[in-house]
Amino acid sequence: MCGIVGYIGSEQAAPILLDGLEKLEYRGYDSSGIAVINNDIIDVEKAKGRLQGLREKTNNGANVIGTIGIGHTRWATHGEPSDVNAHPHLSQSGRFAVVHNGIIENYIALRERLTKKGFEFISETDTEVIAHLFEYYYKGDIMDAMIKVIDRVEGSYALGVLCSDYPDQFIAVRKASPLIIGLGKGENFIASDVTAILKYTRDVYYLEDNEIVVLKNDSVKVYNIDKEEVEKNVFTVDWDISAAEKGGYEHFMIKEIEEQPKALRATISPRIKDGKIVLDDVSLTREDIKNIRKIFIVACGSAYHVGVVAKYVIERMCRIPVEAQIASEFRYCDPIVMPNDLVIVISQSGETADTLEALKVAKSRGARILSIVNVVGSAIANASDDVIYTWAGPEIAVATTKAYSTQLSVVYLLALYMAEKLGTITHGQYKKYLDELQALPDLVAETIKHKEQIAYLASKFYNCHSIFFIGRNLDYAVSLEGSLKLKEISYIHSEAYAAGELKHGTISLIEDGTLVIALATGNDLFDKTVSNIKEVTSRGAVVMGLTTTERSMNGIADYTIQIPVTSDIFLPSLSVIPLQLFGYYVAAQKGCDIDKPRNLAKSVTVE
Ligand code: GLU
Repeated sequence: MCGIVGYIGSEQAAPILLDGLEKLEYRGYDSSGIAVINNDIIDVEKAKGRLQGLREKTNNGANVIGTIGIGHTRWATHGEPSDVNAHPHLSQSGRFAVVHNGIIENYIALRERLTKKGFEFISETDTEVIAHLFEYYYKGDIMDAMIKVIDRVEGSYALGVLCSDYPDQFIAVRKASPLIIGLGKGENFIASDVTAILKYTRDVYYLEDNEIVVLKNDSVKVYNIDKEEVEKNVFTVDWDISAAEKGGYEHFMIKEIEEQPKALRATISPRIKDGKIVLDDVSLTREDIKNIRKIFIVACGSAYHVGVVAKYVIERMCRIPVEAQIASEFRYCDPIVMPNDLVIVISQSGETADTLEALKVAKSRGARILSIVNVVGSAIANASDDVIYTWAGPEIAVATTKAYSTQLSVVYLLALYMAEKLGTITHGQYKKYLDELQALPDLVAETIKHKEQIAYLASKFYNCHSIFFIGRNLDYAVSLEGSLKLKEISYIHSEAYAAGELKHGTISLIEDGTLVIALATGNDLFDKTVSNIKEVTSRGAVVMGLTTTERSMNGIADYTIQIPVTSDIFLPSLSVIPLQLFGYYVAAQKGCDIDKPRNLAKSVTVE
């Protein structure tokens, strides 16, 4: 959600800013803009819509001269997407230019005060108050102004600020919104995430809340709000540049679907040593695990769906009660969380605002926090007691695939790790599960191979108005993800239902020709789900069944997709693959903007 890039060095800034913003396009945006200092004057160019508009307006940046600048892709929260609401925002005299990611919660009060003092607002954004506040507080020292501004604003922000009095430096800060610092040679950067600057450097600083950064050509200094310099550790990112590029694929989404076996191997293999799961980053002792009263899993979107799978898996393996909750609900429900509870938070970006706030609520009640995160050094990782990283590499498509799969693999590792410590599974079972977990990447690869069949089915059903997904237990958990995948990228209405629940109301929506995708992979509940399939076929539904190669759905479903056989708990890793592919191919048939679906952002940094 929103992208920020800033550059200072000896090259022309505008093309570098545009290039960085392009890398951040996947985060979701509706307008863009850049500001560059040229001869002590700040030039600003903005355009509503796709970045291409800004490229055309500036002749790919060639018309904007200067070697220091900031850029922004906006995901509107306050004020419609328009040229005037796009960032950067200038202060009244044009001395300051600001890009902002986040929400200023007290902007109305600040706006009223500034208006009384004679400031005129031209946009509807909350951000414009920041630009004017800088001017209001500026007495010749930009650092002092920054300290006053962040003291006055409430909410979340990542800020990049240019001041025409300082043509040789710019200043940045973040609180609860992502921003990293890129350290180059004779040039330095800010960015919402590393993909924007990987081409130029891999050395980065991660910032704590309210650390203020002053960037010059040849130095980066970080200060706390008392103006004391803070020592930062340089972190070297090992992501490959090609991972953030399409590399011949039509869309990032299909590239990332195909990358799943590799990402799973990278996440699982290093954690299994000599027939045992080794979680170096987890400090939970056997005693700690035995004392867990309850586990909460808190996340949003697909990560929450991983949590629903995790509930079934952990309860089955460890016999500890697990509750999976949506983060935006959890944070405001006065949750009954106790010091002996474990709260598992899951987030690809590690910046999801609702999840981060939910984490803080749980922490304030004394719970222990374990996070499953893909981005090293992210806010959620920093705020957790323990972190298990997924090694999925950068995920660019808004609809997650490899992050979901690797999060799920971490859930398996964790569940088996705890079950072994608790003695809730036998040694023989533990060994068998570990062998199967290690074989999972190959089975995922095998499942992806059948994509032609899924593409064919997509070509038959892409005109549907409404599609239902049903399943029981783990199959239900995966149905939630299959349905979300389909609707987010193809814009087809879709719902996931626990198969046995359909008849309690929703079955009234089934009519002649309604497509129902029925998951019946688990051994225990196959017959039960078949009964539910009969209920919908009797009412005219067309059924696409999904089961393992061990089972036949001839005479039960109109079409059958089969996945390889493994233990029930691991089947979600396989059954999700045809559903990801189905969403992808349906969206492709409909000509949708698959990697950047309308209204959506990759990393949701507002609540
Ligand atoms: N709240 C700001 C706006 O609506 C920033 C949005 C963003 O993070 O892109 O302009």
